[in-house]
Amino acid sequence: MAKEEKEIKCSFCGRTKQNTDVLIAGITGHICNHCVIQAQTIVRDEVSQKGNSSLFNAMHLLKPLEIKKHLDEYVIGQNDAKKVLSVAVYNHYKRLIQNQSKTSHKDEIEIDKSNVIMVGETGTGKTLLARTIAKVLNVPFCIADATVLTEAGYVGEDVESILSRLLQAADFDVAAAERGIVFIDEIDKIARKSDNPSITRDVSGEGVQQGLLKLLEGSTVGVPPQGGRKHPEQKMIQVNTKNILFICGGAFDGITRNIGNRLSTQVIGYSVNKEVEEIDKENLLQYVSPQDLKSFGLIPELIGRLPVLTYLNPLDADTLKRILSEPKNALMKQYIHLFQMDGVKITFEKGVLDFIVEKAMEFKLGARGLRSICEAIMMDLMYDTPSDSTVKQVNVTLRYAKDKLKKSTLNKLKVA
Ligand code: ADP
Repeated sequence: MAKEEKEIKCSFCGRTKQNTDVLIAGITGHICNHCVIQAQTIVRDEVSQKGNSSLFNAMHLLKPLEIKKHLDEYVIGQNDAKKVLSVAVYNHYKRLIQNQSKTSHKDEIEIDKSNVIMVGETGTGKTLLARTIAKVLNVPFCIADATVLTEAGYVGEDVESILSRLLQAADFDVAAAERGIVFIDEIDKIARKSDNPSITRDVSGEGVQQGLLKLLEGSTVGVPPQGGRKHPEQKMIQVNTKNILFICGGAFDGITRNIGNRLSTQVIGYSVNKEVEEIDKENLLQYVSPQDLKSFGLIPELIGRLPVLTYLNPLDADTLKRILSEPKNALMKQYIHLFQMDGVKITFEKGVLDFIVEKAMEFKLGARGLRSICEAIMMDLMYDTPSDSTVKQVNVTLRYAKDKLKKSTLNKLKVA
């Protein structure tokens, strides 16, 4: 007698196998694709709600000193910037905790937003710092380039498009995006071109600065999900920027002149005291003040919304060498790991690192150049070694490194 087969159904909704696309078997039951999707939504909502409070708990534990320690693992030097950022971020999330607790009294002291502006030559670690902070806090992070932004109504991207990126980074989880970090790069490029505020409309400069104000201070804005320009028929996602931390960065080429001028006027204005005498003329950026940003062309309202100002030091040869080998994911560590994966032990002769640094300085490529120089040296080895199972050990000699770089296209930079 044919044994009547028991019909398989989803144990959650009761759909029969024919009515589902996928039916997953468990130990004692089944779940269909529809129920998996529904369950996922429930889990995500729950986690997102709990996530907010667990973030705050984590922030309770992560003190500025600990935040800096994390930064030290990835970023070499830049101690002042790290310290300032750690405090700014700590205070920012304290503010979030305060806003979160609805029980707060009316007369409670309101903590202002601590958006940050970093001034430093290109390639000194501004983006890296912002990115690492976001990683430490495990919050959504995005980078926006101020140069592509234009005033609403002009060709280019609306300022709101910045938030589209953050939403994308947060997988369109609006609550997560609303406590994320946005890094706005090249903020110096939207400086007012002239000191005369009544000059004809400055599409890419002052207008954009004005546009950024509302984002920085906190407001609810309609964000086009795909970024770019807003279209009237497009569906917008409402995002509140009150708890988003904005970190701006820029090279501010030539700002040292403004700083120098200000400092020398101070010297003339007041009696020359010891403090002024000790000014380090080689690195004027460390004395940067909001006043200098204003004379560079940022509008006072924008400067006011970026109350935390810090600077980055130029990278010297020693720092570049440390960058090559010290950070958690240092380039040298990455190469060693890549070769290890093929069962090959790679070593570098003494002097190779100094040579790479020397070339990076010579080509004026800063830390960004280290990678391209290393790639030029390592390319042939990375191409040949995996296919040769007899190779178990490779030692990169100084002569080999010099030879490979000499033959590479990178060497042409020398002429520039
Ligand atoms: P910036 O934003 O200031 O132009 P980045 O942060 O993008 O510069 O730095 C470019 C790259 O150089 C980084 O990805 C990193 O590999 C390296 N780098 C720069 N500065 C440092 C630093 N202080 N410590 C470690 N790596 C650095």
